[in-house]
Amino acid sequence: MFFPKLKILYQAPEVTKYIVNEFDRWLGTLSKMRYDYINPLDFATAAQVDNAMTLNLFSLCVDEEIFNKEDTTPLLRVKYIVECPFCGEHYKTYYNHQDIPNEYVQCHDESCEEFNPYESPHKIVIFFELLDSPEIPKSKQITIFDKTPASPSFSADDLESIRNEMPEDKTKFVDHLWRR
Ligand SMILES: [Zn+2]
Repeated sequence: MFFPKLKILYQAPEVTKYIVNEFDRWLGTLSKMRYDYINPLDFATAAQVDNAMTLNLFSLCVDEEIFNKEDTTPLLRVKYIVECPFCGEHYKTYYNHQDIPNEYVQCHDESCEEFNPYESPHKIVIFFELLDSPEIPKSKQITIFDKTPASPSFSADDLESIRNEMPEDKTKFVDHLWRR
C-alpha cells in the first residue's frame, strides 16, 4: 500500500475494503501539486464510488480519534475556503467548520459588502490536504487512474445536499465535516 495506515479503516462499517484500497491507489499516484487541494468528487468520479460513500471515507481519513487509537495521526485534513458571495474574493481559510464565523463579516474589498458565510454555503469551498507522503510499493504493477481534475469545486452546499439524501442514522461522519 502507498499509505499502510489506511488499513485501520478496513474495520470501519461505513466503507468497504475495496473502496479503501482504491482510494490508496488513487491518492498514492496523485500529482504532488494536488496534495493541498484534493477534491473528493474527483475520487468519486475516477473510482466510480457514490458521493455518500466517498464523503464517509474522507471523513474517516480526517478523524483524529480513529487514528490516535492506533498511535498514529490522520491521513488528511479538511479545509474550508470562504469566498465573498458578491465578488468572489478570498475571505479566509479555516481548518475547522466551527471556526467559520456565523455572523456578518466585511469583504476584504472595502467597497464590497458584508456577508455571513453560513448564508452562502455554495461559496465555502471544501478541499482536503494530504498530510503523509506515499510509500513506494513493492509491486510495480500499478494501474493508474485518469487524474484529470474533472469535477466542479466541492462546496459546503454540495456537502449538505449529499447529506440530505442519506438515511438519518447514517450522517454521523458527514455531520463531523459540516453542520449548520
Ligand atoms: Zn466582496
